Parts: sequence; structure tokens; C-alpha cells
Amino acid sequence: MTPFDANPLALCAVLRGPAECLHYRVPESCRSLDLVGRRVVVPLGYREAVAVVVAVEKNLSWHLKKDALKDLRLVVDEAPLLPQDLMRLCQWMSRYYFQPLPSVLEAVLPSSLLARPQKWYRLTEEGRQRLQGAARLEGKNPGAQALEAAFLAREERRPKDFESLPKGWKAHLKRLESLGWVVRHDVWPRLEPSTKTQKIVVLRSLLDEKRISASPHLRRFLTVLQDSGGTCSLSDLRRQVPQTSYWVRKLTAEGAVTVEEREVLRESPLAQDLEHHVAVALTPEQQAAVNTMLGSVLSPSFQPFVLYGVTGSGKTEIYLQLAQKTVNQGRTVLVLVPEIALSTQLEAQFRARFGEALAVWHSGLASGVRDDQWKKITSGRTSVVLGVRSAVLSPIRNLGLIVVDEEHDLTYKQEERLRYHARDVAVMRARIADVPVVLGSATPSLQSFHHGSTGRYTLVTLRKRVEDRPLPHIHIVDMRRHRGPFRVLSPELVQALEETFQDSGQAMLFLNRRGFASFFLCRTCGAVRQCPHCAVSLTYHQSLERVLCHYCGHEEAVPGVCSVCGKGLMVPFGFGTERVEEELHRAFPQIKTLRMDRDTMTCSSKVVQTLDAFRSRKAHVLVGTQMITKGHDFPHVTLVGVISADTSLQISDFRSGETTAQLLMQVAGRAGRGDRPGRVVLQTYNPHHHVIQAAAALDYDQFCEHELAFRRALQYPPFTRMARVLVTGAHGDVTAHAAAVLGRIGRAVKVALETQGMALAILGPAPAPIQKLKKRYRYNLYVKAWKAEDLQAAMEKILEHAAQEAIMSSVQVTVDRDPVSSL
Ligand code: ADP
Ligand code: ZN
Repeated sequence: MTPFDANPLALCAVLRGPAECLHYRVPESCRSLDLVGRRVVVPLGYREAVAVVVAVEKNLSWHLKKDALKDLRLVVDEAPLLPQDLMRLCQWMSRYYFQPLPSVLEAVLPSSLLARPQKWYRLTEEGRQRLQGAARLEGKNPGAQALEAAFLAREERRPKDFESLPKGWKAHLKRLESLGWVVRHDVWPRLEPSTKTQKIVVLRSLLDEKRISASPHLRRFLTVLQDSGGTCSLSDLRRQVPQTSYWVRKLTAEGAVTVEEREVLRESPLAQDLEHHVAVALTPEQQAAVNTMLGSVLSPSFQPFVLYGVTGSGKTEIYLQLAQKTVNQGRTVLVLVPEIALSTQLEAQFRARFGEALAVWHSGLASGVRDDQWKKITSGRTSVVLGVRSAVLSPIRNLGLIVVDEEHDLTYKQEERLRYHARDVAVMRARIADVPVVLGSATPSLQSFHHGSTGRYTLVTLRKRVEDRPLPHIHIVDMRRHRGPFRVLSPELVQALEETFQDSGQAMLFLNRRGFASFFLCRTCGAVRQCPHCAVSLTYHQSLERVLCHYCGHEEAVPGVCSVCGKGLMVPFGFGTERVEEELHRAFPQIKTLRMDRDTMTCSSKVVQTLDAFRSRKAHVLVGTQMITKGHDFPHVTLVGVISADTSLQISDFRSGETTAQLLMQVAGRAGRGDRPGRVVLQTYNPHHHVIQAAAALDYDQFCEHELAFRRALQYPPFTRMARVLVTGAHGDVTAHAAAVLGRIGRAVKVALETQGMALAILGPAPAPIQKLKKRYRYNLYVKAWKAEDLQAAMEKILEHAAQEAIMSSVQVTVDRDPVSSL
């Protein structure tokens, strides 16, 4: 065999199959096709599986024993399913996040495209003759008899046809198969996203007036049909006219109407009514920002921008104008937002501008709607995709611009299965597609801020609010001076609320903790009531009269006597949003409140309803967790109260300062966005903490400089790169041992790689801050490097060595690159 064997091989990622990609021979008939990005059917052991072709290699794989390789069996897609840039992005993600390529692709493709074949059984000619033979009914159980009768009635059958048959058919089916009387064959469904069709009634001829006046229902039927232009969906007619089915049947028979089947695209329900949208005249600052970015939109090339604009500076309008310019160029736009339900205003604005050309993408979509949005995107009918983090993996072609709104938001980080950061993936997608990417925020992540100030990204700043609205005034309340009844609402906050109500303004109260009390503590021995499955305290929910675990959902009755000492009484300590609402009602019995946290917001329509109710002033106060901090524009809010600015400062993580500063400045930014100026009352036990001080001065620059100096001194990201390796297991000892083994491997790899000039640090292993979660024990090991390539090399080696250790098979190892949480 020559090294330059012309027989091409397809490298395939087998979906729901092995982690590594496999080679298959490309049969003669498929060689002219561009296979990359298409699904194919491949043999896998004794079964067949769907795979995506990752690459076609002509010469590279001559060392493989080609004769032992199998042919791929079937090309499923008529054209590549994934655009090339997305295919390359998936490969990058697989490598960067240490995830098998098939599992990355599984996250990208809608589940209907991962479908398995349907099993069919067919009666053979021989089988028919035998079964029709005389002896067929004798000595057989009822299940077997029924099975044979079914096959004789229809030759092609699916196992589900037999489910209602009497027992015994299964064994008999096996027998018939082994005799060769029936054969099994797999039918590959047309692996296409499902479609929905609708019955449409079309008016074909007019009826005479006399007949119409004889029946009011007929008149109504025809009026509705004519009012909608002579065609109307059957379901709409049914809703509006009694006896629709009768009239449809009758008139169809007469030829006066016809019923046609038409495909409809399922849209995500529109979150908010369209406002009539007029493009506003940009402020000089906005215009300058657009001008800076316009060049790379008009002749696209990779350039990352950090759009750093204070709250209320009008970033949305800038996205809209850049998007419009991109679409005018015949290219498409991808816009990422943290949560769709919290971005209804932005969605409405994009919908008003782009109408049908907008596709919306979020995890709350029903799978049919998701399939249709996928189709709409791949069919080229979409110019703008607006969606949450997974939209960064949407199959949009011909990309011209990516926008990431609120780029600092932690919801961009996926913490399960495929752990990725959508903002970072967006930057990589822009780079692969060679287009600009705009990262917008009033409080950019330190990483983006750092890149912006070192010139790696282009920094574009907006210092002013539109119409020169003043930034809110911030008042710090030192809670160390307040005890007892004032622990939740200080006198200062109560007074500010009173003034706000008198002024007919609205207020928002923010506390990043839900529930009524944070924990139950024994007065005698100090024990805290903990979740039996997780190493965290249980939270008291007064409205439910239960204590709940916020991690696994475990709940129990409110504890009475302490189970540890058996003597003391358990009493609630700390407080959450539920308590804030109650205190508010006590202080102001006449005012109306709304509460937004994960207890009250059980689905996204509730979020939308609550926000709408508050916007239309159906309540005076909105109490909530960080859900209320994000991007909302409520013109009548003149007061924002932060109940406890310290909550997120106390988390033992080097990022807690960053998260707190962002939260505080975002929530403060909700005040004074209308005509009247806003103010913020910030309650804290740490009035002199630099984060609190910076937030109070609304000086994010100052905060970042301080924080970056600290990160540099301690060599934390963005000055270094980290990966967290999380080891979890059902048994404490085994998990601890496995983590220790991993630590030893890490240190050995570090020593080996340092001889090659790399610089690395291994931290841990140590029990994770939440040591036990959902009955599993947890350990963290951190691998730190000064260069991304070094981290890549080290992690690959560590994982390779770990795979050879027997103990690792009894635990689960998860790699979390660029982690944002240490929990
Ligand atoms: P940000 O996202 O920067 O906090 P928004 O985009 O929500 O700010 O804009 C704040 C408010 O200002 C919105 O009500 C928006 O309609 C309005 N706005 C934006 N640009 C202009 C402009 N050029 N002229 C007048 N109003 C504007
Ligand atoms: Zn729990």
C-alpha cells in the first residue's frame, strides 16, 4: 500500500457513541460530495448509528489498516447541516473544554436530529406460505396466534403495533425471525426537524344569500372566512364559529370550500407587544461609538469591542444600528442576552426592526418551536438570531456581527454537561468567522476590562446617560448602628420609601437571598439544621411552612427541638426576600408589592407578567433577587434599596468582589432612568470595604483598577489561566483518595512540563466549598498556568494519566475551564 492512497476516509463523530472520532471508508458513490458537516449512518459494532462527518482525509491515514475499516452506509443530509465556521467552533470547543466532540455536537443539534432508527419487521414470502399453511393455529399460545394473524393482515409491522397483543408474542417474534419467516430492517427516519402543518380552509365560490340567511351559523362561518381574505385556519374557524366541522364537511362536498394542508412555522410566543419603533437620533456619544465600530461592520474582519457604557447610556440603540448596517450588507447577526424573559424590551425592539427576519432562541422553547427556529435559521430566512447562551451555537450562516449584551453576566457560563462560557465562545466564533464582536456592559467582566485597557480588545466608552439624565445618588447606611427591628429595613430606607410613595414613584428592593430566614440554629448548642444530602444549611420558607435545600430541593418540616443536643430550641436566623416583603407590608400596609425570585417565578411567563405589571405601575415596590438587577428599564423607579450589600461579598472566592460590584452597580442603575432623578439606599455592615465604596461612588473604573492590582499580586485570572477539576463520588473515602491521586498526577505533570519551559501551579485537592451535594462528595483540584497553551498541554497530560488509574473509574471527573464558581 502506498502512503498516497487515494481512497478517502471520513473522520466521524458518532452521536451518542464513543468519545473519540472514528474513521470510515467513503464509498465510491459519495466521493464527489462535500461530506463535512453532514450526518451519515455508520456501522458501530452490531448496530448502526448516526454520525457527523468531521473531516475527509485523503492521504493522512495511510497508516490505518484500511481493510479493517468499514464503509459508511448512508448520507443522511442533502447539504451540510452545520456551517463550516460552526463545525470549526465545535472542534475548538471540544479541545478547549476537554469534551468529546460528539458530546459538543449533541449540544448543538436539536434532539430530533439525533433520532435513532425505527425497527420494522416484514413477513417474507416463505413466511407467508408457512403461516398460511394448515397447521398454523395449532398448539400456539394466544400471543403467538395474534402475532401471526397481524402479519398476515399486513406484512410490514413495528413492534409497537404488537403492544396490545396477549403475552407470548415477543418470544414468538424472535422465533419467526430466527426461522427467516420475518426479517427485521431499520428505517432511518427522515432525520429532519419535525414540521407542523395546519389545515387551511379556502373559500372557492360564493353561496346564495337566501341560503345564508337561513342559518346564522353559516353566515358567521362565511363572514369569518371572508374577513380573513378567503382563507382561514380550521382551528381559528372552530374557535369562532359553532358547528364549524359540519359546515366544512358540507361545503367541501359541494365544492364551495376546500381544505388544504400547509406548513406553519412555530414561533416563540411574543413576550411583549411591539411598540411602534422609530429609530432615534443618536446622542453624540452614541454616534461616536457607532462610528468606531462601523468600519469593521462594513468590511467585516475579526475585531473584539468592549462597549463599556454606564447604565441608561443607550447601548441597545447602538446594537440595533450596527445590526441594521450588517443586515443591509446582506449578512446576519447573532445577539446574545443573559435571559430572554428578562430581555423582553430588547426583544421587542429587535422584533419591531427586523420582524419575520428575527429568530428567537432560548431553552424555554418547546421542542417543536425550537425545531422550527432551527429550520428558519438554516433556511436563510433569518437575518438576526436573538438568544441565550446556547444561541452562540446556532447554525446561522453568513455571519457579519456578534453582540453579547451584559457580557459580565454569569448566566453565560454553563455549569452542567458541556461547561462553556458563551461570551468566550462568541469571541472565538467571531474569530473563526472573521467578523466583529461587541461585548456590551455597564460593568464589564474584569477579563474584558483588562483586555480593553491593554488594547487586546478595542474599548468603546459611554460615560453619559441619554438626555443627560443624572446617575443616581447613593446613600450608604451603616447597619452596625441598627439592631432589632431595623435589621431588615433601616429607618433611612423606610423614610426614603415613604418619600418615594408620596412622590408617586416606584421602588425596587434587592436582596440576593430568597426565602424567609436563611437557616435554623439551636439556641443551646449552636447546631445549624443542614440538608441530609448536601453540606448546606436549610432555608426557611414561611409561606410553605417548610425548610428547603436550595441545591437539591430536599424539604422537611420546620425543626422544633435540636436533633444534635436534644435540648435546645431551633430558631430562624438571617432573612431573605420573603421576609423583606413581609416587613414592607408591616411598615406600609397600604402599598402593593411584587416579588421576583426563583420561588415566585416558576416559569418565564410569570417573569414577563411580573415585569409588565410593575412597568404599568400595578405595584409600588418590586422586591427580588438578582433577577431584578438585569437590564430593566422602568422609567418610574426613583428609589432602589439594597437590603444587604454584603451577602455576596462573603462567598469564599476570589471573584466575590467582582460579582458584588457588578450586582450593586447594576441594581443602582435601575434608578432614575425616566425624567426624575433616582437615588439608592445601600445597607451594609462593611461601609468602608473598597467594593462598597466604589459602588457607592458609581466608579467602576476605580473598582477595576483596585481589583486588578489584587489579582495581579495574587496571580489570579485574568493574569493567569485556570482549570478546575471537580472530582465527585458516592463514597467520601474513595472520592478523597481519587482526588489525592489526581493531585499526585498533576504534580508529576507539572514537574515534567516545567523541564520543557512551561510554568504551572497545582492547587489542592481540597474539599469543595460545598463538600457534599445531592449525596455526592466533592473535591476540587486547580491547575493554573501563565499561558493558555501551557494549561492545554498540562490538562491533556493529566487527563491522559488519570484515565489509566483504576480508582478514577469509581468517581466522576469534570473539567471546568475558566471556572466562575468554586462551589
Ligand atoms: P442601557 O442598556 O445602556 O442601560 P438602554 O439601551 O436601555 O440603556 O437605554 C436607556 C433608555 O434610553 C431607553 O429607554 C432608550 O429607549 C432610551 N434611548 C436610547 N438612546 C436614545 C437616544 N438617542 N435618544 C433618546 N432616548 C434614547
Ligand atoms: Zn440538599
